[in-house]
Amino acid sequence: MAGKTNPYKAALAQFDAAVSHMNLDPSTVAYLRSIRREVTVTFPVEMDDGEIRMFTGYRVQHNSVLGPTKGGVRFHPDVTLDETRALAMWMTWKSALMNLPFGGAKGGVSVAPQSLSTNELRRLSRRYAAEISLVIGPESDIPAPDVGTNPQVMAWIMDTYNQLKGGGHTPAIVTGKPIPLGGSKGRFEATGMGVMFTAREAMKFKGIDPSSATVAIQGFGNVGSMTARFMHELGTKVIAVSDVYGGIHNSDGIDIPKLIDYVKQTGSVVDFPGTEPISNEELLTMKCDVLIPAALEGQITAENAPRIQARIIAEGANGPTTPEADQILHDRGILVVPDILCNAGGVTVSYFEWVQGWQHIFWEREEVVSRLEKAMVSSFNATLEQYKRTGLSMRMAAYTLAIGRVAEAFELLGVFP
Ligand code: NAD
Repeated sequence: MAGKTNPYKAALAQFDAAVSHMNLDPSTVAYLRSIRREVTVTFPVEMDDGEIRMFTGYRVQHNSVLGPTKGGVRFHPDVTLDETRALAMWMTWKSALMNLPFGGAKGGVSVAPQSLSTNELRRLSRRYAAEISLVIGPESDIPAPDVGTNPQVMAWIMDTYNQLKGGGHTPAIVTGKPIPLGGSKGRFEATGMGVMFTAREAMKFKGIDPSSATVAIQGFGNVGSMTARFMHELGTKVIAVSDVYGGIHNSDGIDIPKLIDYVKQTGSVVDFPGTEPISNEELLTMKCDVLIPAALEGQITAENAPRIQARIIAEGANGPTTPEADQILHDRGILVVPDILCNAGGVTVSYFEWVQGWQHIFWEREEVVSRLEKAMVSSFNATLEQYKRTGLSMRMAAYTLAIGRVAEAFELLGVFP
């Protein structure tokens, strides 16, 4: 369900709209709009029954002016080169907005990971890692988890890279690793925690008391479930959640810790006791204070944006709102906390993990959480200042700040040779 809009077209439209509000040199604009490097790999994987199946994957590096490129790896049947390009470009702006010394990249394989056995998934992850090993590296391009991948997949990618390099140990080659292999405390829950911090700040700005507010969340994977957990801990009532199989609703609030246990056992939120079924479309347009899309791109469109009743949309997912919908939401006075700000907790703690990996010194969770909160609140406030100063939407405020930083660095570097 990659949505009707091509995500790369949406990413370029957002970029073009942002630069129309900036006074950049046209050659800088042409440079920032371009993708530096993209690799398509097609490779065989042996299935458990002996059949050899071919898979196609990608690694796209959009821009590396601010540092090594950074971005997740997605395993999903709808992965395409254009989707990977869009996600890579969004990573460039996200890292710049958070003042991280990273550029933007993304990778993916077109596959339904839940249809594979653990051994098949291991072979696929390792072969994909081998195929992209020429272009990744701890100082050049650092993968992380995204939809359909997790710490275990990161462990396989790290070990494959290390074995190919002669059997050394390079923990900084991936982030989102399991903690016993050099992962950071707090990384697994970082994106959801960051979504909560920015949604909390947005509620403060809108004069909404989090302890009497309601929230609906689309998607209950890493980002959706961790966001639900932290919103619940904040005292906000989570009244609806959904996953690819369907949604659930209870206007008195859903017991999120129990739901997380239930999903661990059953694999879905569907039929959680004490809730009514709700469709994904109903969830998006239901009455609530905060709507959090945390699944895939292209969910909030020109078709449903006029019917959205939330006062704030906090984008846990990347690219959940089409450019046409964005305009409608802005005109309707709905505050959108844009993806490159809202879900940047993941790459921020990935940066902490990368730093710890280089130093081989590991931080306590409290330190990670307090640095994350400081970073999220500071970038939220910088974006809000830009929004108030310029009258642009929150997305355009975030984009103009981020693009301005990459443009400045590019102009300082100049062109090689
Ligand atoms: P995940 O694979 O852990 O979870 C995805 C969830 O979306 C699952 O619950 C799945 O059932 C649900 N889903 C899929 N199709 C759906 C549909 N049609 N309707 C409703 N739900 C549907 O993935 P994730 O890591 O949680 O990523 C979710 C989003 O957050 C993606 O856009 C991703 O790029 C973004 N993101 C993830 C991270 C991270 O650290 N994992 C960081 C930043 C942004």
